Amino acid sequence: DSNSILLGAREFANYLRTLIKEYNLDSLVSVLETVAIGAYDGVVMHVLPDDVYYVVKSKEHVKKIVEEHLLKGRQVWDLTVDKSKLKPGEKFQVKEYRIVTRNIGVIDPKNIEEYIARDGYFALSKALQMKPEEIINEIKASGLRGRGGAGFPTGLKWEFTAKAQSDQKYIVCNADEGEPGTFKDRLIMEGDPHSIIEAMIIAGYAVGATKGYIYIRGEYYNSVENLRKAIKDAYEYGFLGENILGSGFNFDLTVRLGAGAYVCGEETALLESIEGKAGRPRLKPPYPPQVGLFGKPTVINNVETLANVPQIILNGAEWFRSIGTPNSPGTKVFCLVGDVNRRGMVELPMGVTVREVLYGFGGGIKGGRELKMVQTGGLAGTFIGPDKLDTPLDYDSMKNYGVSLGSGVILAIDDTHCAVDIALNVMEFFRHESCGKCTPCREGTKVACDILEKMTKFQGTEEDLKYLEQIAYVTADSSFCGLGQSINVPLLSLINNFREEFEAHIKDKI
Ligand code: SF4
Repeated sequence: DSNSILLGAREFANYLRTLIKEYNLDSLVSVLETVAIGAYDGVVMHVLPDDVYYVVKSKEHVKKIVEEHLLKGRQVWDLTVDKSKLKPGEKFQVKEYRIVTRNIGVIDPKNIEEYIARDGYFALSKALQMKPEEIINEIKASGLRGRGGAGFPTGLKWEFTAKAQSDQKYIVCNADEGEPGTFKDRLIMEGDPHSIIEAMIIAGYAVGATKGYIYIRGEYYNSVENLRKAIKDAYEYGFLGENILGSGFNFDLTVRLGAGAYVCGEETALLESIEGKAGRPRLKPPYPPQVGLFGKPTVINNVETLANVPQIILNGAEWFRSIGTPNSPGTKVFCLVGDVNRRGMVELPMGVTVREVLYGFGGGIKGGRELKMVQTGGLAGTFIGPDKLDTPLDYDSMKNYGVSLGSGVILAIDDTHCAVDIALNVMEFFRHESCGKCTPCREGTKVACDILEKMTKFQGTEEDLKYLEQIAYVTADSSFCGLGQSINVPLLSLINNFREEFEAHIKDKI
Protein backbone atom coordinates (compact mmCIF):
# COMPACT_ATOMS: atom_id res chain seq x y z
CA ASP A 1 0.00 0.00 0.00
CA SER A 2 1.02 3.67 -0.29
CA ASN A 3 2.44 3.79 3.22
CA SER A 4 4.59 0.69 2.71
CA ILE A 5 5.79 2.04 -0.63
CA LEU A 6 6.90 5.22 1.12
CA LEU A 7 8.75 3.04 3.63
CA GLY A 8 10.65 1.30 0.79
CA ALA A 9 8.46 -1.73 0.00
CA ARG A 10 9.17 -1.71 -3.74
CA GLU A 11 12.92 -1.31 -3.24
CA PHE A 12 12.95 -4.17 -0.71
CA ALA A 13 10.83 -6.39 -2.98
CA ASN A 14 13.18 -5.84 -5.92
CA TYR A 15 16.22 -6.51 -3.75
CA LEU A 16 14.54 -9.65 -2.45
CA ARG A 17 13.99 -10.87 -6.02
CA THR A 18 17.65 -10.16 -6.86
CA LEU A 19 18.88 -12.13 -3.85
CA ILE A 20 16.57 -15.03 -4.60
CA LYS A 21 18.09 -15.22 -8.07
CA GLU A 22 21.64 -14.85 -6.76
CA TYR A 23 21.16 -17.72 -4.34
CA ASN A 24 19.43 -19.88 -6.98
CA LEU A 25 16.25 -19.99 -4.96
CA ASP A 26 13.96 -18.92 -7.80
CA SER A 27 12.57 -22.39 -8.39
CA LEU A 28 11.64 -22.63 -4.70
CA VAL A 29 10.57 -19.16 -3.65
CA SER A 30 8.24 -16.69 -5.30
CA VAL A 31 7.59 -13.11 -4.22
CA LEU A 32 4.04 -11.83 -4.06
CA GLU A 33 3.24 -8.18 -3.50
CA THR A 34 0.08 -7.57 -1.52
CA VAL A 35 -1.18 -4.83 0.78
CA ALA A 36 -0.19 -4.12 4.37
CA ILE A 37 -2.57 -5.87 6.69
CA GLY A 38 -3.27 -2.75 8.67
CA ALA A 39 -1.12 -3.00 11.77
CA TYR A 40 2.51 -2.32 11.15
CA ASP A 41 5.41 -0.01 11.80
CA GLY A 42 7.54 -0.90 8.77
CA VAL A 43 7.29 -2.99 5.63
CA VAL A 44 5.76 -6.33 6.50
CA MET A 45 7.17 -9.50 4.96
CA HIS A 46 5.17 -12.65 5.51
CA VAL A 47 7.05 -15.92 4.88
CA LEU A 48 4.87 -18.83 3.89
CA PRO A 49 4.25 -21.66 4.57
CA ASP A 50 6.16 -21.00 7.81
CA ASP A 51 3.70 -18.22 8.70
CA VAL A 52 6.38 -15.90 10.05
CA TYR A 53 5.96 -12.14 9.91
CA TYR A 54 8.92 -9.78 9.70
CA VAL A 55 9.06 -6.01 9.81
CA VAL A 56 11.72 -4.89 7.36
CA LYS A 57 13.29 -1.46 7.57
CA SER A 58 16.45 -1.82 5.44
CA LYS A 59 18.02 -3.88 2.67
CA GLU A 60 20.26 -5.48 5.32
CA HIS A 61 17.13 -6.85 6.93
CA VAL A 62 16.04 -8.35 3.61
CA LYS A 63 19.47 -9.95 3.18
CA LYS A 64 19.42 -11.37 6.68
CA ILE A 65 16.00 -12.95 6.14
CA VAL A 66 17.12 -14.52 2.84
CA GLU A 67 20.40 -15.83 4.22
CA GLU A 68 19.03 -17.07 7.52
CA HIS A 69 15.41 -18.00 6.95
CA LEU A 70 15.21 -18.90 3.26
CA LEU A 71 18.63 -20.57 2.99
CA LYS A 72 19.07 -22.11 6.42
CA GLY A 73 15.51 -22.33 7.73
CA ARG A 74 16.36 -20.29 10.83
CA GLN A 75 13.91 -17.65 11.98
CA VAL A 76 15.44 -14.18 12.42
CA TRP A 77 14.04 -13.47 15.83
CA ASP A 78 15.03 -9.81 16.14
CA LEU A 79 13.04 -8.93 13.01
CA THR A 80 10.06 -11.12 13.80
CA VAL A 81 6.91 -9.27 14.72
CA ASP A 82 4.89 -10.27 17.70
CA LYS A 83 2.20 -12.20 15.85
CA SER A 84 -0.48 -10.81 18.09
CA LYS A 85 0.15 -7.43 16.49
CA LEU A 86 -0.57 -8.72 13.06
CA LYS A 87 -2.78 -11.73 13.38
CA PRO A 88 -5.12 -10.94 16.20
CA GLY A 89 -7.01 -13.88 17.50
CA GLU A 90 -5.16 -15.93 20.06
CA LYS A 91 -3.34 -13.65 22.45
CA PHE A 92 -5.15 -10.53 21.37
CA GLN A 93 -7.45 -8.74 23.75
CA VAL A 94 -9.83 -7.73 20.97
CA LYS A 95 -10.75 -10.33 18.43
CA GLU A 96 -10.55 -9.07 14.90
CA TYR A 97 -13.28 -10.18 12.54
CA ARG A 98 -12.42 -9.69 8.90
CA ILE A 99 -15.26 -9.33 6.41
CA VAL A 100 -14.36 -6.34 4.30
CA THR A 101 -10.63 -6.76 4.91
CA ARG A 102 -10.61 -10.54 4.47
CA ASN A 103 -8.49 -10.43 1.33
CA ILE A 104 -6.22 -7.59 2.34
CA GLY A 105 -2.66 -8.80 2.77
CA VAL A 106 -3.72 -12.20 1.51
CA ILE A 107 -4.14 -11.80 -2.25
CA ASP A 108 -2.29 -9.96 -4.96
CA PRO A 109 -4.83 -7.19 -5.66
CA LYS A 110 -3.70 -6.94 -9.27
CA ASN A 111 -4.42 -10.57 -10.00
CA ILE A 112 -8.12 -11.25 -10.60
CA GLU A 113 -7.54 -15.00 -10.38
CA GLU A 114 -6.41 -14.70 -6.78
CA TYR A 115 -9.66 -12.88 -6.01
CA ILE A 116 -11.65 -15.57 -7.81
CA ALA A 117 -9.77 -18.26 -5.85
CA ARG A 118 -11.10 -16.64 -2.64
CA ASP A 119 -14.74 -16.96 -3.82
CA GLY A 120 -14.49 -13.74 -5.81
CA TYR A 121 -17.41 -13.08 -8.20
CA PHE A 122 -19.25 -16.10 -6.73
CA ALA A 123 -21.67 -13.68 -5.07
CA LEU A 124 -22.29 -12.01 -8.42
CA SER A 125 -22.97 -15.35 -10.03
CA LYS A 126 -25.39 -16.19 -7.19
CA ALA A 127 -27.05 -12.75 -7.35
CA LEU A 128 -27.65 -12.99 -11.09
CA GLN A 129 -29.70 -16.12 -10.44
CA MET A 130 -31.83 -14.30 -7.88
CA LYS A 131 -34.63 -11.82 -8.56
CA PRO A 132 -33.59 -8.17 -8.01
CA GLU A 133 -36.13 -7.79 -5.18
CA GLU A 134 -34.72 -10.89 -3.45
CA ILE A 135 -31.29 -9.26 -3.38
CA ILE A 136 -32.71 -6.04 -1.95
CA ASN A 137 -34.62 -8.02 0.69
CA GLU A 138 -31.44 -9.88 1.66
CA ILE A 139 -29.51 -6.63 2.08
CA LYS A 140 -32.42 -5.13 4.04
CA ALA A 141 -32.63 -8.22 6.26
CA SER A 142 -28.89 -8.08 6.93
CA GLY A 143 -29.28 -4.67 8.56
CA LEU A 144 -26.25 -3.31 6.66
CA ARG A 145 -25.97 0.45 7.18
CA GLY A 146 -23.80 3.03 5.45
CA ARG A 147 -20.24 2.90 6.76
CA GLY A 148 -19.33 6.36 5.48
CA GLY A 149 -20.67 8.00 8.62
CA ALA A 150 -24.41 8.61 8.15
CA GLY A 151 -25.48 5.01 8.84
CA PHE A 152 -28.46 5.01 6.48
CA PRO A 153 -29.83 1.49 5.83
CA THR A 154 -28.29 0.28 2.55
CA GLY A 155 -31.17 -1.99 1.57
CA LEU A 156 -33.66 0.90 1.87
CA LYS A 157 -31.49 3.10 -0.32
CA TRP A 158 -31.41 0.36 -2.94
CA GLU A 159 -35.17 -0.13 -2.66
CA PHE A 160 -35.92 3.57 -3.17
CA THR A 161 -33.75 3.59 -6.30
CA ALA A 162 -35.23 0.35 -7.58
CA LYS A 163 -38.75 1.78 -7.25
CA ALA A 164 -37.91 5.04 -9.03
CA GLN A 165 -39.03 5.02 -12.67
CA SER A 166 -36.36 6.05 -15.15
CA ASP A 167 -34.73 5.04 -18.43
CA GLN A 168 -31.31 5.28 -16.75
CA LYS A 169 -30.04 4.71 -13.20
CA TYR A 170 -26.58 4.85 -11.70
CA ILE A 171 -24.48 3.26 -8.96
CA VAL A 172 -21.85 5.55 -7.47
CA CYS A 173 -19.13 4.48 -5.08
CA ASN A 174 -18.07 7.26 -2.75
CA ALA A 175 -14.32 6.69 -2.53
CA ASP A 176 -13.49 10.31 -1.79
CA GLU A 177 -11.99 9.49 1.57
CA GLY A 178 -10.98 12.88 2.90
CA GLU A 179 -11.50 12.60 6.64
CA PRO A 180 -8.21 13.34 8.41
CA GLY A 181 -6.91 10.15 10.02
CA THR A 182 -9.01 7.84 7.86
CA PHE A 183 -7.30 5.49 5.44
CA LYS A 184 -9.44 2.37 5.56
CA ASP A 185 -11.12 2.91 2.16
CA ARG A 186 -7.70 3.40 0.62
CA LEU A 187 -6.47 0.08 2.02
CA ILE A 188 -9.63 -1.70 0.85
CA MET A 189 -9.27 -0.27 -2.67
CA GLU A 190 -5.56 -0.98 -2.81
CA GLY A 191 -5.83 -4.42 -1.27
CA ASP A 192 -9.11 -5.80 -2.61
CA PRO A 193 -10.45 -3.68 -5.49
CA HIS A 194 -12.56 -6.47 -7.00
CA SER A 195 -14.80 -6.67 -3.92
CA ILE A 196 -16.02 -3.12 -4.65
CA ILE A 197 -16.50 -3.81 -8.34
CA GLU A 198 -18.42 -7.01 -7.61
CA ALA A 199 -20.66 -5.20 -5.11
CA MET A 200 -21.41 -2.39 -7.56
CA ILE A 201 -22.46 -4.84 -10.28
CA ILE A 202 -24.73 -6.61 -7.78
CA ALA A 203 -26.22 -3.25 -6.74
CA GLY A 204 -26.71 -2.32 -10.39
CA TYR A 205 -28.57 -5.56 -11.09
CA ALA A 206 -30.69 -5.15 -7.95
CA VAL A 207 -31.87 -1.60 -8.71
CA GLY A 208 -31.83 -1.70 -12.52
CA ALA A 209 -28.75 0.48 -13.08
CA THR A 210 -26.43 -0.19 -15.98
CA LYS A 211 -23.69 2.32 -15.29
CA GLY A 212 -21.44 2.90 -12.33
CA TYR A 213 -18.87 5.48 -11.27
CA ILE A 214 -16.18 5.17 -8.63
CA TYR A 215 -15.44 8.68 -7.43
CA ILE A 216 -12.05 8.55 -5.84
CA ARG A 217 -9.58 10.98 -4.33
CA GLY A 218 -7.11 11.96 -7.02
CA GLU A 219 -4.23 11.71 -4.55
CA TYR A 220 -4.91 7.99 -4.03
CA TYR A 221 -2.58 6.99 -6.89
CA ASN A 222 -2.23 3.33 -5.91
CA SER A 223 -5.95 2.89 -5.35
CA VAL A 224 -6.65 4.40 -8.76
CA GLU A 225 -4.04 2.17 -10.37
CA ASN A 226 -5.34 -1.00 -8.71
CA LEU A 227 -8.98 -0.17 -9.42
CA ARG A 228 -8.31 0.61 -13.08
CA LYS A 229 -6.41 -2.66 -13.48
CA ALA A 230 -9.20 -4.55 -11.69
CA ILE A 231 -11.89 -2.97 -13.93
CA LYS A 232 -9.91 -3.87 -17.05
CA ASP A 233 -9.55 -7.47 -15.87
CA ALA A 234 -13.22 -7.69 -14.89
CA TYR A 235 -14.16 -6.67 -18.43
CA GLU A 236 -11.80 -9.29 -19.86
CA TYR A 237 -13.25 -12.03 -17.66
CA GLY A 238 -16.84 -11.10 -18.57
CA PHE A 239 -17.86 -9.67 -15.17
CA LEU A 240 -18.36 -6.20 -16.65
CA GLY A 241 -19.80 -5.09 -19.97
CA GLU A 242 -22.58 -6.74 -21.91
CA ASN A 243 -24.47 -9.91 -21.01
CA ILE A 244 -22.58 -10.51 -17.76
CA LEU A 245 -22.09 -14.26 -17.16
CA GLY A 246 -24.74 -14.95 -19.79
CA SER A 247 -27.47 -13.27 -17.71
CA GLY A 248 -28.45 -10.64 -20.25
CA PHE A 249 -27.55 -7.92 -17.71
CA ASN A 250 -25.17 -5.14 -18.81
CA PHE A 251 -23.07 -2.98 -16.52
CA ASP A 252 -20.27 -0.51 -17.25
CA LEU A 253 -17.93 1.00 -14.70
CA THR A 254 -15.73 4.09 -14.80
CA VAL A 255 -13.31 5.72 -12.36
CA ARG A 256 -13.58 9.49 -11.81
CA LEU A 257 -10.93 11.39 -9.88
CA GLY A 258 -11.67 14.05 -7.30
CA ALA A 259 -9.37 16.99 -6.72
CA GLY A 260 -8.97 16.90 -2.98
CA ALA A 261 -12.02 18.83 -1.75
CA TYR A 262 -13.31 17.46 1.54
CA VAL A 263 -16.85 18.63 0.76
CA CYS A 264 -16.96 16.31 -2.27
CA GLY A 265 -17.41 13.46 0.18
CA GLU A 266 -20.91 14.94 0.68
CA GLU A 267 -22.98 12.89 -1.72
CA THR A 268 -24.62 15.67 -3.73
CA ALA A 269 -21.36 17.67 -4.04
CA LEU A 270 -19.80 14.45 -5.28
CA LEU A 271 -22.50 14.11 -7.95
CA GLU A 272 -21.93 17.71 -9.04
CA SER A 273 -18.22 16.98 -9.36
CA ILE A 274 -18.81 13.87 -11.50
CA GLU A 275 -21.02 16.01 -13.73
CA GLY A 276 -18.08 18.35 -14.24
CA LYS A 277 -19.37 21.18 -12.07
CA ALA A 278 -17.83 22.77 -8.99
CA GLY A 279 -18.17 20.34 -6.08
CA ARG A 280 -20.85 22.11 -4.05
CA PRO A 281 -23.75 20.43 -2.25
CA ARG A 282 -27.27 20.45 -3.70
CA LEU A 283 -30.46 21.22 -1.88
CA LYS A 284 -32.10 18.09 -0.45
CA PRO A 285 -34.79 16.81 -1.06
CA PRO A 286 -34.93 15.48 -3.71
CA TYR A 287 -32.53 12.78 -2.59
CA PRO A 288 -30.22 10.88 -4.98
CA PRO A 289 -32.36 7.70 -5.12
CA GLN A 290 -34.97 9.88 -6.87
CA VAL A 291 -32.89 12.62 -8.52
CA GLY A 292 -29.20 11.83 -8.52
CA LEU A 293 -26.43 11.78 -11.09
CA PHE A 294 -27.41 13.66 -14.28
CA GLY A 295 -30.87 13.97 -12.73
CA LYS A 296 -31.39 10.17 -12.68
CA PRO A 297 -32.05 7.82 -9.73
CA THR A 298 -28.73 6.95 -8.12
CA VAL A 299 -27.41 4.72 -5.35
CA ILE A 300 -24.40 6.21 -3.58
CA ASN A 301 -22.55 3.84 -1.28
CA ASN A 302 -19.27 4.14 0.54
CA VAL A 303 -16.33 1.78 -0.18
CA GLU A 304 -16.58 -0.09 3.12
CA THR A 305 -20.36 -0.48 2.79
CA LEU A 306 -19.99 -2.01 -0.66
CA ALA A 307 -17.18 -4.35 0.38
CA ASN A 308 -19.68 -6.06 2.75
CA VAL A 309 -22.18 -6.84 -0.01
CA PRO A 310 -20.58 -9.90 -1.70
CA GLN A 311 -20.13 -11.62 1.67
CA ILE A 312 -23.75 -10.95 2.65
CA ILE A 313 -24.99 -12.40 -0.64
CA LEU A 314 -22.75 -15.45 -0.22
CA ASN A 315 -23.34 -16.13 3.48
CA GLY A 316 -26.82 -14.70 4.01
CA ALA A 317 -28.39 -11.98 6.12
CA GLU A 318 -28.64 -14.19 9.20
CA TRP A 319 -24.88 -14.80 9.24
CA PHE A 320 -24.25 -11.05 9.00
CA ARG A 321 -26.71 -10.37 11.82
CA SER A 322 -24.86 -12.83 14.05
CA ILE A 323 -21.93 -10.36 14.15
CA GLY A 324 -22.05 -7.02 15.95
CA THR A 325 -25.12 -5.74 17.81
CA PRO A 326 -28.84 -6.13 16.96
CA ASN A 327 -29.16 -2.52 15.80
CA SER A 328 -25.73 -2.37 14.18
CA PRO A 329 -24.96 -5.75 12.62
CA GLY A 330 -21.58 -6.59 11.11
CA THR A 331 -18.18 -5.12 11.66
CA LYS A 332 -16.59 -1.70 11.47
CA VAL A 333 -13.15 -0.90 10.18
CA PHE A 334 -11.47 1.46 12.63
CA CYS A 335 -8.47 3.66 11.96
CA LEU A 336 -6.57 4.20 15.16
CA VAL A 337 -4.30 7.25 15.09
CA GLY A 338 -2.59 9.66 17.48
CA ASP A 339 -0.63 9.01 20.65
CA VAL A 340 -0.91 5.22 20.84
CA ASN A 341 1.76 2.57 20.70
CA ARG A 342 0.31 0.89 17.63
CA ARG A 343 -1.49 2.88 14.99
CA GLY A 344 -3.27 1.25 12.12
CA MET A 345 -6.45 -0.24 10.74
CA VAL A 346 -8.43 -2.97 12.42
CA GLU A 347 -11.80 -4.54 11.63
CA LEU A 348 -13.85 -5.35 14.72
CA PRO A 349 -17.43 -6.34 15.43
CA MET A 350 -19.77 -3.39 15.98
CA GLY A 351 -20.27 -2.68 19.66
CA VAL A 352 -16.59 -2.93 20.60
CA THR A 353 -15.67 -0.29 23.18
CA VAL A 354 -13.33 2.66 22.70
CA ARG A 355 -11.11 1.17 25.41
CA GLU A 356 -10.83 -2.18 23.60
CA VAL A 357 -9.69 -0.46 20.42
CA LEU A 358 -7.30 1.83 22.26
CA TYR A 359 -5.69 -0.71 24.55
CA GLY A 360 -6.52 -4.09 22.99
CA PHE A 361 -5.42 -3.12 19.52
CA GLY A 362 -3.48 0.10 20.08
CA GLY A 363 -1.42 -1.22 22.98
CA GLY A 364 -2.10 1.84 25.14
CA ILE A 365 -0.72 5.36 25.19
CA LYS A 366 2.71 6.08 23.78
CA GLY A 367 5.57 6.52 26.19
CA GLY A 368 3.37 5.49 29.12
CA ARG A 369 1.81 8.97 29.21
CA GLU A 370 -1.68 9.79 30.46
CA LEU A 371 -4.58 9.74 28.04
CA LYS A 372 -6.21 13.15 27.95
CA MET A 373 -8.99 12.69 25.41
CA VAL A 374 -10.15 10.67 22.44
CA GLN A 375 -11.92 11.94 19.36
CA THR A 376 -14.16 9.38 17.74
CA GLY A 377 -15.79 9.44 14.32
CA GLY A 378 -13.48 11.79 12.47
CA LEU A 379 -12.77 15.49 12.73
CA ALA A 380 -16.48 16.31 12.98
CA GLY A 381 -16.83 13.76 15.80
CA THR A 382 -16.99 14.12 19.55
CA PHE A 383 -14.09 14.57 21.94
CA ILE A 384 -14.50 12.43 25.02
CA GLY A 385 -12.54 12.18 28.23
CA PRO A 386 -11.09 8.94 29.70
CA ASP A 387 -14.34 8.49 31.69
CA LYS A 388 -16.19 7.47 28.52
CA LEU A 389 -13.79 4.80 27.27
CA ASP A 390 -16.26 2.00 27.91
CA THR A 391 -18.73 3.39 25.40
CA PRO A 392 -19.65 0.78 22.79
CA LEU A 393 -19.06 1.95 19.24
CA ASP A 394 -22.10 1.40 17.06
CA TYR A 395 -24.89 3.41 15.46
CA ASP A 396 -26.56 3.93 18.86
CA SER A 397 -23.51 5.36 20.60
CA MET A 398 -24.37 8.92 19.57
CA LYS A 399 -27.98 8.63 20.72
CA ASN A 400 -27.18 6.78 23.96
CA TYR A 401 -23.83 8.21 24.99
CA GLY A 402 -23.20 11.27 22.79
CA VAL A 403 -20.22 9.55 21.17
CA SER A 404 -19.82 9.57 17.37
CA LEU A 405 -19.10 6.45 15.34
CA GLY A 406 -18.72 8.40 12.07
CA SER A 407 -16.25 6.94 9.63
CA GLY A 408 -14.48 4.97 12.37
CA VAL A 409 -11.46 7.14 13.16
CA ILE A 410 -10.26 6.99 16.74
CA LEU A 411 -7.78 9.70 17.60
CA ALA A 412 -5.98 9.32 20.92
CA ILE A 413 -4.54 12.49 22.48
CA ASP A 414 -2.19 12.43 25.43
CA ASP A 415 -1.75 14.95 28.22
CA THR A 416 0.88 17.01 26.39
CA HIS A 417 -1.75 18.65 24.19
CA CYS A 418 -3.84 21.73 24.87
CA ALA A 419 -7.61 21.65 24.22
CA VAL A 420 -7.60 25.20 22.76
CA ASP A 421 -4.85 24.31 20.27
CA ILE A 422 -6.82 21.24 19.24
CA ALA A 423 -10.00 23.32 18.79
CA LEU A 424 -8.10 25.77 16.58
CA ASN A 425 -6.61 22.93 14.56
CA VAL A 426 -10.07 21.43 13.96
CA MET A 427 -11.67 24.75 13.04
CA GLU A 428 -8.83 25.66 10.67
CA PHE A 429 -9.54 22.46 8.81
CA PHE A 430 -13.22 23.31 8.45
CA ARG A 431 -12.46 26.91 7.48
CA HIS A 432 -10.16 25.63 4.76
CA GLU A 433 -12.63 23.02 3.52
CA SER A 434 -15.77 25.18 3.65
CA CYS A 435 -16.91 25.48 0.02
CA GLY A 436 -18.13 29.02 0.62
CA LYS A 437 -21.63 28.47 -0.73
CA CYS A 438 -23.44 29.52 2.45
CA THR A 439 -22.65 32.38 4.84
CA PRO A 440 -22.98 30.64 8.24
CA CYS A 441 -20.32 28.05 7.45
CA ARG A 442 -18.05 30.31 5.42
CA GLU A 443 -18.06 33.13 7.98
CA GLY A 444 -18.72 31.08 11.11
CA THR A 445 -15.62 28.93 10.68
CA LYS A 446 -13.52 32.04 10.06
CA VAL A 447 -14.80 33.89 13.12
CA ALA A 448 -14.33 30.77 15.27
CA CYS A 449 -10.72 30.53 14.08
CA ASP A 450 -10.11 34.23 14.84
CA ILE A 451 -11.38 33.81 18.40
CA LEU A 452 -9.45 30.63 18.99
CA GLU A 453 -6.29 32.19 17.64
CA LYS A 454 -6.74 35.03 20.12
CA MET A 455 -7.22 32.50 22.90
CA THR A 456 -4.07 30.57 22.03
CA LYS A 457 -2.23 33.87 22.61
CA PHE A 458 -4.03 34.25 25.96
CA GLN A 459 -5.80 37.35 24.61
CA GLY A 460 -9.37 36.02 24.70
CA THR A 461 -12.19 37.44 26.83
CA GLU A 462 -15.18 35.84 28.53
CA GLU A 463 -17.37 37.33 25.77
CA ASP A 464 -15.20 35.61 23.18
CA LEU A 465 -15.81 32.23 24.78
CA LYS A 466 -19.59 32.84 24.91
CA TYR A 467 -19.54 34.04 21.31
CA LEU A 468 -17.59 30.94 20.26
CA GLU A 469 -20.32 28.73 21.71
CA GLN A 470 -23.02 30.80 19.98
CA ILE A 471 -21.24 30.50 16.66
CA ALA A 472 -21.11 26.73 17.08
CA TYR A 473 -24.90 26.59 17.59
CA VAL A 474 -25.80 29.09 14.86
CA THR A 475 -23.50 27.52 12.26
CA ALA A 476 -24.87 24.07 13.02
CA ASP A 477 -28.48 25.31 12.81
CA SER A 478 -28.24 27.37 9.66
CA SER A 479 -25.58 25.87 7.41
CA PHE A 480 -26.56 24.39 4.11
CA CYS A 481 -24.87 20.98 4.32
CA GLY A 482 -23.43 18.48 6.76
CA LEU A 483 -20.03 20.12 6.86
CA GLY A 484 -21.21 23.34 8.49
CA GLN A 485 -23.97 21.54 10.39
CA SER A 486 -21.49 19.39 12.26
CA ILE A 487 -18.81 21.82 13.41
CA ASN A 488 -20.62 22.28 16.72
CA VAL A 489 -19.95 18.64 17.65
CA PRO A 490 -16.15 18.80 18.05
CA LEU A 491 -16.14 22.41 19.22
CA LEU A 492 -18.79 22.09 21.92
CA SER A 493 -17.54 18.73 23.13
CA LEU A 494 -14.10 20.27 23.60
CA ILE A 495 -15.47 23.33 25.41
CA ASN A 496 -17.81 21.26 27.60
CA ASN A 497 -15.20 18.67 28.55
CA PHE A 498 -12.28 21.06 28.99
CA ARG A 499 -13.93 24.36 29.95
CA GLU A 500 -11.35 25.14 32.61
CA GLU A 501 -8.65 24.93 29.96
CA PHE A 502 -10.49 27.38 27.71
CA GLU A 503 -11.03 29.68 30.70
CA ALA A 504 -7.33 29.50 31.50
CA HIS A 505 -6.73 31.19 28.13
CA ILE A 506 -8.91 34.17 28.99
CA LYS A 507 -6.75 37.21 29.72
CA ASP A 508 -8.83 38.55 32.65
CA LYS A 509 -8.48 35.25 34.44
CA ILE A 510 -4.72 34.81 34.13
FE1 SF4 B 1 -20.41 24.84 1.61
FE2 SF4 B 1 -20.09 24.88 4.28
FE3 SF4 B 1 -22.33 25.72 3.23
FE4 SF4 B 1 -21.71 23.11 3.13
S1 SF4 B 1 -22.15 24.27 4.96
S2 SF4 B 1 -22.59 24.35 1.50
S3 SF4 B 1 -19.49 23.26 2.88
S4 SF4 B 1 -20.32 26.65 2.91
